[in-house]
Amino acid sequence: MKEIVVISGKGGTGKTSITASFAVLGGKDVVVADCDVDAADMHLLLKPDFAYKEKFYSGKVAEIIQDECIKCGKCKDVCRFDAVPIIDDNYVIDELNCEGCGYCSYVCPTDAIIMKDSLSGDFFISKTRIGNTLVHAKLAIAADNSGKLVTQVRTEAKKIAEENNIPYIIADGSPGIGCPVVASVTGSNLVVIVTEPTVSGLHDMSRVAELISKFGIKSVCIINKADLNRNITIGIREFLDNKKIPLIAELPYDLAFADAITAGKTIVEHNDGIIKSTIEESWKKILELV
Ligand code: SF4
Ligand code: SF4
Repeated sequence: MKEIVVISGKGGTGKTSITASFAVLGGKDVVVADCDVDAADMHLLLKPDFAYKEKFYSGKVAEIIQDECIKCGKCKDVCRFDAVPIIDDNYVIDELNCEGCGYCSYVCPTDAIIMKDSLSGDFFISKTRIGNTLVHAKLAIAADNSGKLVTQVRTEAKKIAEENNIPYIIADGSPGIGCPVVASVTGSNLVVIVTEPTVSGLHDMSRVAELISKFGIKSVCIINKADLNRNITIGIREFLDNKKIPLIAELPYDLAFADAITAGKTIVEHNDGIIKSTIEESWKKILELV
């Protein structure tokens, strides 16, 4: 079983549209993993059935049992995160500010503070309209630990692939170069970097390429909207040449991408022209390289 992760460094490059197209082209030979848990949107194109759902808990958050509180104020004094406001003369926990360190619970003289599991989002296993399995998740608003949730998505996708002899996992990775993207790519077999010829596209792509090389993972690149700025496209090609990262496709700027999303389809289902054939060709190259 081989794991292919699509990342972009910055948002708006067309990463998810291209990943969803690979999911369609791979059909039942792929398990799809949406690791972009902070802004998951593969489900908009693949229309999963949300058949299995479980709560995702991560870390701890404090709770004050009001009947046991003697209002001494020690919890408020020690909290460095300003997470213990006084409301209606009661000490309470502001869950959005609470970091779950447990210091307040430690100093409370009456053991009025418990540390409970923090609900951070939902986790799903679905069948898509294509018939393949999508493992996906939704981080709760203002929740953290998305790296941990990404790891759970990948672990489950691997388990499903192994149990069902499915040869590939195609994952929509997290943007950026922080913890969630590290959690998305670690231990994968091939990373596909999708970029665009803008100043930020080149900058963010080079940062993410360096990150991938530090992990020793093989990577390839797709330039989307390649005709948008020819000079920057040349700069991207030069960067890839220097880093020995194969450029497997250049896609033209085309409003068909937006039309496909509006129609709730992937670009390979919505377009019969050069974009469809280029993405199909890219998928073949990816399978050869992985
Ligand atoms: S430390 Fe305990 S008893 Fe004191 S105000 Fe906080 S919750 Fe109440
Ligand atoms: S657990 Fe830590 S962050 Fe949360 S309220 Fe207590 S002291 Fe503050």
